Amino acid sequence: MISKKGKVFLVGAGPGDPNLATLRTREIILQCDVLVYDHLTNPEFRKWVSAECEQIDVGRSPGRHTVAQDDIGKILVSKASDKQIVVRLKGGDPLVFGRCAEEMSVLDDAGIDYEIIPGVTAALACAAYAGIPLSHGDNGSSISFLTGHEDVTKESLRTDFAKFADTGGTLCIYMGMSKIEEIATSLLQGGMPLDKPAAIVSNGTLPIQRHLRCNLGDIVQMSQTSDLEAPAIIFVGNAVGLSFRKSWFEDRPLFGRRIVVTRSTSQNSKMKSKLEELGAEVLELPLIEILPTEDRTLVAEAFAGIATYEWVIFTSANGAREFMRLFFLAYEDIRSFGPMRIACVGEATAAILRAYNLEVELIPKVSTAENLAQELVATDSLDSANILVITGNRNREVLVSMLETVGHAIVDVLPIYDTDFCDVSKAEDLENFRDKGADAIIFTSSSTALSYIEQEDDLILKKTAQTPVFFSFGPETSKTLKENNLAVAAESDKPSMDSIIKALISRFIK
Ligand code: SAH
Repeated sequence: MISKKGKVFLVGAGPGDPNLATLRTREIILQCDVLVYDHLTNPEFRKWVSAECEQIDVGRSPGRHTVAQDDIGKILVSKASDKQIVVRLKGGDPLVFGRCAEEMSVLDDAGIDYEIIPGVTAALACAAYAGIPLSHGDNGSSISFLTGHEDVTKESLRTDFAKFADTGGTLCIYMGMSKIEEIATSLLQGGMPLDKPAAIVSNGTLPIQRHLRCNLGDIVQMSQTSDLEAPAIIFVGNAVGLSFRKSWFEDRPLFGRRIVVTRSTSQNSKMKSKLEELGAEVLELPLIEILPTEDRTLVAEAFAGIATYEWVIFTSANGAREFMRLFFLAYEDIRSFGPMRIACVGEATAAILRAYNLEVELIPKVSTAENLAQELVATDSLDSANILVITGNRNREVLVSMLETVGHAIVDVLPIYDTDFCDVSKAEDLENFRDKGADAIIFTSSSTALSYIEQEDDLILKKTAQTPVFFSFGPETSKTLKENNLAVAAESDKPSMDSIIKALISRFIK
């Protein structure tokens, strides 16, 4: 067996948006034994690590020095000497104002192997996400990265800004906000004109990004009256002044909105990435989990008699998905499905069956179990008909009893999956939610609403947090919310991702 050797990866996390991490960064974080991270790295990265990974916060930020640089070096050496794979995750690029050199020499001295993985540095990322060109034709033959102060604790400016006044290019000034007045004065003294274009981008690439365009002459006053907070980067140069019609990042319809999704984690990923594409910050508070049913005998019986049913009814996308999965375990050929007719409660459910070229004959106009039952009864095809209802372990009573009592059908129910309430106190985003609140919570089903209500004590927000409004996927979910005195801000027309997103946009677009 090859003995495992410790190694340190000095890794750039990029400026904030986790999508800007490199493939190599992701690969290494997935594998590491120890994650040593900085204050400016996005908490999302900590979700990538394995359950066994040790996480160490060595956050350095103005006014808060959790761990001294020497001690960070000691941690890296001791963990790597212990044969661990250590990721030292730094904001932006590790070699740009990142104190990487100190850590490299400590590792060199200790004879420990390391690898450096670059990241997107704040200047490049902030320029891109605020739509600020760093060079353009004649407007900029150089791009300089400068720092207001090399160390957050240092009092005076280290860089002689006056010397950079006539580079003719673009200046990207890191860590400059607390010294902005001195920086501007120094540049003006060096000969830069008052109307030299400038910009500030704060919290670049994050859903809380803000940017300001101004001139060198008014940058001090404008930055004081704006709500730009650290971390922020200052740009100065002619190219910076080129203006464009749209801010592609900040003008997205859900930009800056905090939206909570409550489905089980596996169901959420599509919704999460769609909302993020539209600019929202997505918090995941899984309130339910979908598990395959334990009752294998029931499943076997239903499949054995599958060809005897006249209608098969699917009440949810989860049910349809799990049914098809089990069907193909039992049979190899779709023709074993038989000639029965198919009804579904909504479009999302129907889409799963259509993917197998199965025709869905009935989808009620309003996606509720009652409407499905009513429209089925109206087909006049239920009297003494054998019907199979594929459903979960909840919310099926109304449907079944209407089919039996009004439609006089013979109904078999196949509860193919169980919806269990998740323990919300284990959700990784819970603290973030309680701390800052959100703009909206999306309830995708009555069960997510019921789980929320049952766990309300764990979901109490801090006084300063934003109180969210509630979005519902459909009439049944809204009914559950209202019955429990929770107001519904908007209900989507159909229980689909696109419809709920339409409802969110029409509520939140500025
Ligand atoms: N190694 C980092 C820089 C660390 S110095 C990199 O390559 O980006 C920290 C400074 O970077 C902050 O004071 C700020 O000027 C800048 N910075 C980092 N992240 C930023 C962000 N998301 N938005 C704006 N500026 C940021």
